[in-house]
This record gives sequence, C-alpha cells and structure tokens, in this order.
Amino acid sequence: MFRNAAAISLHLVGLLQGKKAGASVTRHLHQTFTMAKQMQARRLKGLDYNPWVEYARLATEYDAVNLGQGFPDFAPPDFALEAFQHAVSGDLMLNQYTKAFGYPPLTKILASFFGKLLGHELDPLTNVLVTVGAYGALFTAFQALVDEGDEVIIIEPFFDCYEPMTLMAGGRPVFVSLKPSPTRDGELNSSSNWRLDPDELASKFTPHTKALVLNTPNNPLGKVFSQTELELVASLCQQHNVVCISDEVYQWLVFDGCQHISIASLPGMWERTLTIGSAGKTFSATGWKVGWVLGPDHLMKHLRTVHQNSIYHCPTQTQAAVAESFEKEQLCFGQPSSYFVQLPRAMQRSRDYMARSLQSVGLMPVLPQGSYFLITDISGFKSKMPDLPGAANEPYDRRFVKWMIKNKPVSSEGLRPLHPLLFCKG
Ligand code: PMP
Repeated sequence: MFRNAAAISLHLVGLLQGKKAGASVTRHLHQTFTMAKQMQARRLKGLDYNPWVEYARLATEYDAVNLGQGFPDFAPPDFALEAFQHAVSGDLMLNQYTKAFGYPPLTKILASFFGKLLGHELDPLTNVLVTVGAYGALFTAFQALVDEGDEVIIIEPFFDCYEPMTLMAGGRPVFVSLKPSPTRDGELNSSSNWRLDPDELASKFTPHTKALVLNTPNNPLGKVFSQTELELVASLCQQHNVVCISDEVYQWLVFDGCQHISIASLPGMWERTLTIGSAGKTFSATGWKVGWVLGPDHLMKHLRTVHQNSIYHCPTQTQAAVAESFEKEQLCFGQPSSYFVQLPRAMQRSRDYMARSLQSVGLMPVLPQGSYFLITDISGFKSKMPDLPGAANEPYDRRFVKWMIKNKPVSSEGLRPLHPLLFCKG
C-alpha cells in the first residue's frame, strides 16, 4: 500500500515538472486523494500505543538496564545448546519445511511429556500444535475461538497482550482483579496474598462469556494459583460452558516449594482447556520462539484452521532443538540433576537478592511465588517525591518508570549477579 502511494506521488512530480499539467494531473491528484482513505483496520483502533515500546526506547536512549523485558542474560543449559548445534549441523532436511502442525519428534515428546503431567493420553497429531512462541499460541487461540461480541474474562494484573488479542478478534475484555490482603506492619507482601473474590469472579460470567484467560505462574505478579483457586475457576468455566485459555509458560519457575498445577488436569477441565507453553521460558532460550498449545481436538481443530492459513510452518531447526532438549530432560525429570529443579533454585536466589536490594532503598517488593517477575510497592517513594515530571493525567507509576530510566539508569555491571529477575512485562 505504501509502495503504491509513493509511486503515485513520484509520477505526479514528473507531470508537474512538465510544461502542461491539465486534466491528467487532476486525474492523478484525484487518485492520490482517494488513496488517503482510512488505512488502519478498525480492529487496531486504540491499540497503537504500548508503554513498553516507549520504555524500551527510553532505556536505549539513556543506556539504562531494561528490567521490563522478560528474558535471561545467562546461557541456556549445555544440553539445550548442544541440541541446537545438532539441529543446525546434522540432517540437511532440517533446513526445510516440516509438518505444518509441528515437527513430528517434537509433537511426540510434547504429547508424552505433558500427557503424564495432565493425566491424559495426548495424540501428537490432534492434541498438540507447535506455534511461533507462546505469543503465537495465544494469538492462534484468540483468533480461533473469540468472535464479535464474545466476552473474555481477564484476571488483573495480566500479561499485556491478552487485552489487544481479545479486541483484535472482535471480543470484549471483562476484567476481574486479584486483590491484595493487608500484611502486618513490616511483613513482606507475597503474591500469594493477592486473591480473587469468588463472588466478584462469578458475577463476571454472562451468557456472552466465551473464554477466561488464566496465567499461572502469573506475569507480572508471580502468583501461583492454588488448587482451591483453580477449582473455583474450573467450576465456573464448567457451569457457564466457557473455555479456559491457560498460559503456563512459567510452569517450571516456582519458588519456596510451591506447586504448579495445570488447570487441564482438574476433573472436567481437559475438554475445555487450551494449555499454552513456551520453550523460550522452559529452556531459558527466549530467542528460539517455539511455543505450543495442548488441548482437545474439538477445540484444536479450530486453532489448526488459523495456523494453516497464517503461519503454516514454524522453523524446523528450533523445533528439532526443543525436541532433543525435552528428550534429554525427560531422562532426569524429577531428579536433582533436572534443569526444571535447578532453574527455579537459581531464580529464587536472584529473587531474594533483588527483594533485599529493593528494601534497602525503601521500596516494598511483593515476593513472587514464581515467574521471571517482581513488582514493588512505590507508595513510600511517592510520599517523599509526589511530583515527578510528566503530563498531569499520566499515572504516577508510568512517571516513576521514566524518572528511574532518566535519573537512575542502573548499570548492567551492577546487575550482573541478579541476572534473571525482571520487572513487569515479558
Ligand atoms: N505468556 C506470558 C505470560 C509471557 O510472559 C510471555 C513472554 N514474556 C509469553 C506468553 C510469550 O512467550 P514466547 O516468548 O514463547 O512467545
């Protein structure tokens, strides 16, 4: 579209430089003006601004460490790096397209690995779809299931793409928030103190509710939903015939002995749940961008329709690397040498270090039970510095982030021992 518009204006310049403009110029001008129609699709209205894009740009400008981007600054485990090397230097056919819905060794291992955890036998062909990261999985799920006028329940605070993905599919986001219960004086807050009000949650379900998005461990709070909380969500989804889109990308990153539970493993939930995972988060290799959806065929067939008419194939070599990584991990799963045991231990140490650092400057962290993230209460700071620069209607937290970037651009040297623990967005 842009290329056409440019071509037309160049043509006009040429004509106007000639001796006679006349009727053909008028015709071309008309053509140009008719091009000036609304180019943006209506479904993108209001979605162009994203604070994270602005923060990332500012962080680059001020050479600040970007604590908002959810990726590790350490290497993936050796076995995953070796798997990647095998994928790029081995079978030449791994340079070519593979099966549209997933590289067969990967769909096979995902089916067997997660089948055991979900307590359900999975068919690699009908219950597994490989996508471009968990982002791709989410997008495919929203496009496949959410229709004009459908309501989607989103639990706040939430990973920021759930709202625009609902809107782009024509749906209506309906928010329900986790609320913190008060802590005793001096006691550190924990993400486990943030809970859903059962009555409020129930009140959000209507005949138009199509889906509920669950994210456990949650980005950005780090909350790990308990069995009781999941049972509440499950019973409401069943009562109202609602699909649960369960984003579980941080399922291995749980601290303090917390247990991650997949809602699809609860009675009656497999049939109405799409479980989403990410190799990026699983093997600390976010650049690989391999994600997946697991679910019943009656839902998955609609996701396959979206996939076959959009992405069609995901890169074969990264899928091969993820398949081999899972095969290796499966050999020691549950044992102390398992990466899924070692990674959360290392992250927990980083979390504790970061929490102490925040406390030492008067900020009150909310201790996450899982995930890459940590949020902090800045009200103590606000009472000392109520007037940070920014537009009058700009929320204080956004002004605070910008002030931090400009005035306290933490050097990466200073942060090296902390590496994985990050604030907010993923
Ligand atoms: N879900 C959540 C909760 C995330 O935090 C992220 C990434 N930050 C994703 C999905 C997307 O993961 P991927 O990189 O695999 O696309």
